[in-house]
Amino acid sequence: MMMNIERIPVFTVNDEMKSLKPRMMDAIENVLLSGHFIMGENVKALETEIAEYLGVKHAIAVNSGTDALVIALKAGGIGEGDEVITTPFTFFATAEAIHQVGAKAVFVDIDEETFNINPKLIKQAITPKTKAIMPVHIFGQAANMQEIMDIAGEHGLQVFEDVAQAFGAIHNGRKAGTWGVAGCFSFFPTKNLGAYGDGGLIATDDDDLAANSRMLRTHGSKKKYHNETFGYNSRLDEMQAAILRVKLPYIDQWNQNRFQIAKRYSEAFEDISGIIPPALSRISEDSHVFHQYTIRILDGNRDRVQKELSDLGVETMVYYPIPVHRLPVYEGSTISAPVSEKAAAEVISLPIWPQMDVKIQQKVIDVLISVIKK
Ligand SMILES: *Cc1c(COP(=O)(O)O)cnc(C)c1O
Repeated sequence: MMMNIERIPVFTVNDEMKSLKPRMMDAIENVLLSGHFIMGENVKALETEIAEYLGVKHAIAVNSGTDALVIALKAGGIGEGDEVITTPFTFFATAEAIHQVGAKAVFVDIDEETFNINPKLIKQAITPKTKAIMPVHIFGQAANMQEIMDIAGEHGLQVFEDVAQAFGAIHNGRKAGTWGVAGCFSFFPTKNLGAYGDGGLIATDDDDLAANSRMLRTHGSKKKYHNETFGYNSRLDEMQAAILRVKLPYIDQWNQNRFQIAKRYSEAFEDISGIIPPALSRISEDSHVFHQYTIRILDGNRDRVQKELSDLGVETMVYYPIPVHRLPVYEGSTISAPVSEKAAAEVISLPIWPQMDVKIQQKVIDVLISVIKK
């Protein structure tokens, strides 16, 4: 019988709202009463607060994570005829941004265990046209930035980090998004630092890239009505900035909560055959913020398991069912990335949010184990 089963969502903001509601309502009311809705004092303050949090010189708020990628690339001088090395195991926006500035995305396969770009494969993809590397900190786990920066340094390449899923993740003592020339963040509502609408941000220490990004986000003008280049309308609005400012002080705690939830999952699945959970023994606590908790389901069972979990009230997601190089837009391409293709067929992301109740999590664990063992 399926009656009265309360479905477990893959993600929800309802729990955070329980504790944040009074502050959230105040913040929103203040914006409404200020009569100032676009790029006002909240945007300015958010930029300062995030720059401080990350330890960078400049933070430039924009309309989305996708825009952050496009504007940063363009501000960094990437364009027609250039090649940018990236991972095919990501959300389409990563590659799309590279193409939108006129460059070509060159896909390099991922590391089997972390799902992040495999630095060992980057070198052989470098050509005279290569100008940049764009790693993605997928599922919240920092990519191996040390190795990537070493390769970039050797070959004179810029590094643009797609940090859409990893606000607050740390690699070798340094925050993701602060290694390369620019870190591009998304505040889409489901991200680990999410607004209640669209939003994004570029973090950089580079004065020129910062100035160019600021110009590009407002129609290519530094001074109003003195447009110097063709830019975008990509401003963050005050409402989203105010909402993000309420949430920012909690991000480290929320990331730690996610890690504890991930740990409970991985311990529960350790000895279950047919499942490969993230190996928490090999992941340091600050390097993975578990934006997603993603496991592999072996033996071709993934789609069956997902359907049966859904039938039993547990929602899951598959990020990503098709690696980017296999999407229709790349039809006819001969790119091979077998590790990404295998991952796309096996991965499933389980419910996780910072306030997730232990009992709810236990139900997900019990249901998944019962479905796997069938
Ligand atoms: C969400 C996401 C983006 C795009 O961010 P938006 O704010 O939705 O435009 C880019 N890259 C990755 C890896 C993402 O997860």
